[in-house]
This record gives sequence, C-alpha cells and structure tokens, in this order.
Amino acid sequence: MAQKILIDMIKLRAVMAEKSALTLPEAYFYQSVNQNGLKTIRELATFRFTCRKCEDAPCIAVCPADALEKDKDGVVERHTNLCVSCKSCVTICPFGTMMTDFFKHHRNRDLFYDLKETKELERFIAACPEGTVTLTDENESPEKNIYSLNEKVLVREYLYITEKNK
Ligand code: SF4
Ligand code: SF4
Repeated sequence: MAQKILIDMIKLRAVMAEKSALTLPEAYFYQSVNQNGLKTIRELATFRFTCRKCEDAPCIAVCPADALEKDKDGVVERHTNLCVSCKSCVTICPFGTMMTDFFKHHRNRDLFYDLKETKELERFIAACPEGTVTLTDENESPEKNIYSLNEKVLVREYLYITEKNK
C-alpha cells in the first residue's frame, strides 16, 4: 500500500503556541488539488477540519478584498489572487482557527515543497517540527482524530461536531 503523508495539526498548533516566531515550511501538490494560487496543504486542512464553519462567517464579512467564500460544502476558501494578506480574517475569527503565520508566505515561495517530488517530500518532512509530518500506512480513522484531506494526505485534528454537521 502506498504510504500517505500524515500532518498532525494538533501537534503543529502546540509547537506554534510555544514558538510563535517559528517559520513553518509549507507543502502543496503542484498541478493537483492546490493549483489555485499555490494553496498550501495546511490552509486546506485548516479550513476543512479546524474551522467551525460559522453560519454568518465574520472572516468572510471582514475581508476587504472579497477573497473568502464558502464552497458548496460550506468550507471557507481563500482566493489567493485576491487576498492582500491583511490578516483581518485571522484577527476577527472568534475561534483562532487560523494560525497567526497563516499568510506569511503569501509572496515568498522559498519555503514551499512540492509533495509530488520524493526528494522534496523528504526535505519537507525534515524541515517540519519533529513528529508533525510523518509517512504512514494508516487510513482515515476518526477514533484517532485522523481524517482524509485527499488521496495522499491525512490530517490529525479535533473536529468541531454539532448536531447540524454530524
Ligand atoms: S488576509 Fe485579508 S485579504 Fe486575505 S483573506 Fe484574510 S481578510 Fe481577506
Ligand atoms: S470566523 Fe473562523 S471559524 Fe468562523 S468560518 Fe471564519 S475561519 Fe471558520
């Protein structure tokens, strides 16, 4: 079975809480799920799994560039070509969904790794805080808080479950 990449958002948040000045490497699949403006896996995972999907989402209302909108599943999407990195959405989110460095690399691609390339994947794993990105033979397992982001990436995160989104 081909190994999958497991990104541990719970550990990542803990690391970021301790070292707020840390610059995290970012990963994407070029010409794949992230081709809309080099959207990173961490951003996709955050909006899909960490975000509480507010009904009248204040992040969308506050964005001065109309860069945020919900997709058909209610998942917030950022149009990177419109976003001006003002971080108003980060500030207004009542749940601290987005890590403070979320938009740091908006114009800096030096720390981006294309996970389709084996060597880049190895370098990405080595560059990430220890234990936050690993290779695994596991599949999605909600009892371990592990969910599938796409066919190659699993994300460990606590989901916000309500009667509505069960
Ligand atoms: S950083 Fe600013 S421009 Fe970008 S999505 Fe957030 S509110 Fe909109
Ligand atoms: S305000 Fe925060 S939790 Fe609510 S939809 Fe926006 S990012 Fe998600």
